[in-house]
Amino acid sequence: MSILAGKLGLVFGVANKRSIAWAIAQAWHQAGARLAFTYQGERLKENVAELAGAFGEDTVVLPCDVTKDEEIAEVFRQVGERFGKLHLLLHSVAFAPREALEGEFIHTSREAFRVAHDVSAYSLVALAREGAPLMTEGGSILAMTYYGAEKVVPRYNVMGVAKAALEASARYLAYDLGPKKIRVNCISAGPVNTLAARGIAGFAEMLKHYEAHAPLKRNVLPEELGAAGTFLASDGAAAITGQVIYVDSGYQIMGM
Ligand code: NAP
Repeated sequence: MSILAGKLGLVFGVANKRSIAWAIAQAWHQAGARLAFTYQGERLKENVAELAGAFGEDTVVLPCDVTKDEEIAEVFRQVGERFGKLHLLLHSVAFAPREALEGEFIHTSREAFRVAHDVSAYSLVALAREGAPLMTEGGSILAMTYYGAEKVVPRYNVMGVAKAALEASARYLAYDLGPKKIRVNCISAGPVNTLAARGIAGFAEMLKHYEAHAPLKRNVLPEELGAAGTFLASDGAAAITGQVIYVDSGYQIMGM
């Protein structure tokens, strides 16, 4: 079923084939969307170009450090030139200095707090602002978040605070962009073993904890994030905006 046939999308946050962005991009592609990708820095260029090449040799792959306004502007200028318009935008980007993801939150430095919020939360505002003018037929903006935004997850620390800012930003953006038929939602994913996840101290323990305590007694699969991302991008979710949708084997409902 090609529920995203004719849709044009832009994906931020593929680092490798384990990336959540890659799982969602594959699902969007299988549902009929045509996609462009960005990567951060030369280090990832080849990797992302190789993955994106699976969608056709002419797949657009552009550099973008989301902390740089001029790079963001250039990405949307080039996507505008190539696609003419845009329907889907995936924000699957986060970063906090490693030392801020160990030990106690109280020791978070001003700089680590700033960087985590700049990369992981403000970037959604910047991308939505540049992307919205291309979404002339309406659109769906999707960001990845985590439960540490609302409850204390030891050692997730400043990333939890940045995810809270990301989720709140999604709500304010949903309000601003609603009249243009542009929806903004977050998927709150259970833990998935990716490059970024390995930067969180005790991540293996988190996986085990979910298996033991989530109602479904297992961890979420990347393809399940792809399927949820496809639903939120589709017309089936036309009346859903500003929401955080939990794709976490049910973990979020538990009180004990
Ligand atoms: P990932 O594969 O490492 O993806 C994170 C991406 O963010 C990488 O492509 C990374 O590029 C990019 N990034 C970091 N700083 C950037 C910058 N300044 N400009 C542009 N891109 C930048 O890990 P992931 O787990 O799939 O993470 C994707 C999203 O899902 C993140 O928002 C994460 O918080 C969220 N999430 C993950 C989990 C989980 O358990 N894995 C659970 C819930 C939510 P570099 O590699 O170059 O830094």
